[in-house]
Amino acid sequence: MDIIDNFIGGELTPPADGDYLENICPATGQVYGKIPNSNDADLAKAISSAQEAQQTWANTPLEQRSDILLKIAQLIEEHIDELALAESLDNGKPISLAKQVDIPRAASNFKFFANAATQFASESHAMPGDAINYTLRQPVGIVGCISPWNLPLYLFTWKIAPALAAGNCVIAKPSEVTPKTASMLAKLCLDAGLPKGVLSILHGQGQQIGRMICNHPEIKAVSFTGGTQTGGQIATELAPRFKKLSLELGGKNPAIIFSDCDFEHTIEQVFRASFANQGQICLCASRLYIQREIYDKFKEALVKKAKQLVPSDPFNESSKMGAIVSKQHLSKILHFVELAKNSNANILCGGYQITLKGELENGFYMAPTIIENLAIDNACNQQEIFGPVITLTPFDDAQEAITLANNSDYGLATTIWTQDINKAHHVAEQVNTGIVWVNCWLHRDLRTPFGGMKNSGLGREGGNEAMRFFTEAKNVCIKY
Ligand code: NAD
Repeated sequence: MDIIDNFIGGELTPPADGDYLENICPATGQVYGKIPNSNDADLAKAISSAQEAQQTWANTPLEQRSDILLKIAQLIEEHIDELALAESLDNGKPISLAKQVDIPRAASNFKFFANAATQFASESHAMPGDAINYTLRQPVGIVGCISPWNLPLYLFTWKIAPALAAGNCVIAKPSEVTPKTASMLAKLCLDAGLPKGVLSILHGQGQQIGRMICNHPEIKAVSFTGGTQTGGQIATELAPRFKKLSLELGGKNPAIIFSDCDFEHTIEQVFRASFANQGQICLCASRLYIQREIYDKFKEALVKKAKQLVPSDPFNESSKMGAIVSKQHLSKILHFVELAKNSNANILCGGYQITLKGELENGFYMAPTIIENLAIDNACNQQEIFGPVITLTPFDDAQEAITLANNSDYGLATTIWTQDINKAHHVAEQVNTGIVWVNCWLHRDLRTPFGGMKNSGLGREGGNEAMRFFTEAKNVCIKY
């Protein structure tokens, strides 16, 4: 039995009242470990260790802070195999994906913000002949970072790294569904020389310890990535407390595929955007709008590829599709497919659970699913499914594609596929999403603003946006 503990005051610490939750491996459906069901007593300890560490950490020379973060990045890279295996065990993702994407990008997050902090300059505003203003950007204090299960270490570090780089102490909570790599990170942080109390990691349920972290009066800012409903609850509860709040929430992302796209490249990339990580990436394309001239050809090529993508043992290096993260999540995805089946939709492929053999027979696997002829207002076209399910809809011209793409409560990411650069610029300008990729997907430059409009969130992460979020701006005006 794999037992995970909290990380408080530089030590692995069992939960105050000895209560643990089960940790389940999605590939086998079996319980393989226990994690703390943390409560307010655990949080109180974490807060007091952060209070002890805060001033010293904030005053630690920038280069020293940066060196520690670079060391953490290096240690993540050195432990890539163990971390990738842990990620696959907890999440069900193919181990090759964890090795190529999740873990290297977690290291990049620390590297990037270690350097970003040293380049983060504050501005000054001269009032000629009168006064000079300069802006101090000081650490917020103790901040809460809460992350989801789909890209566990990648998104956990995407918050922690800028928060620490900016001189804050952090109380972080990974998803209770995928706690393992966060607990391994604790050990790496200690080995890298991160002082005690600067980072605490508390495990447990969102509605219990997650909520307690957000609401604790000593937590001055909350950076949250997760579902839109949870984000709404947090925003409601925190509004009267005037905390800084960053929300990265769900998506229902359109892919707009024009007939003049580079066909082979687009098929490859749109397929990846649809089904990578079993479709469980907030940025995955789930509504595909295809120009009518190439609709049938594109559909056939996509369905052919989907039929060849068979879920398999995620621990096998050759696996391209692993397990859905949990039994509950699989049921939710299948429920959406039922709604589509009950309408006039065509299920072109998939739409069902898959049972693998041997040790994997109780795992949570699902065939890639492609649906067409679905009303635009059907739940499968409007709500986030967050699984290997996409819908196809034809369009005639750019204006219709823009209208369809914007017909959503969400506004996270759009992909546009065309070789006409003027058309790409026009559509990019018109779609209401925080991120637009043209002829690519998940092509990330960590300096760029990252986040969504509408129900996809509030605020932006990445680069200076994150550094600004994790600091308080104070203007000093000097009259001469
Ligand atoms: P979730 O909202 O259920 O949980 C996210 C995290 O919040 C978990 O750690 C959970 O324990 C915690 N939590 C739950 N209730 C809480 C509360 N009341 N207060 C504080 N913390 C609480 O989401 P999930 O199912 O883990 O993740 C999937 C969702 O995350 C999807 O909607 C996906 O689109 C979204 N997501 C968004 C982005 C983005 O960058 N926009 C990235 C990845 C995932």
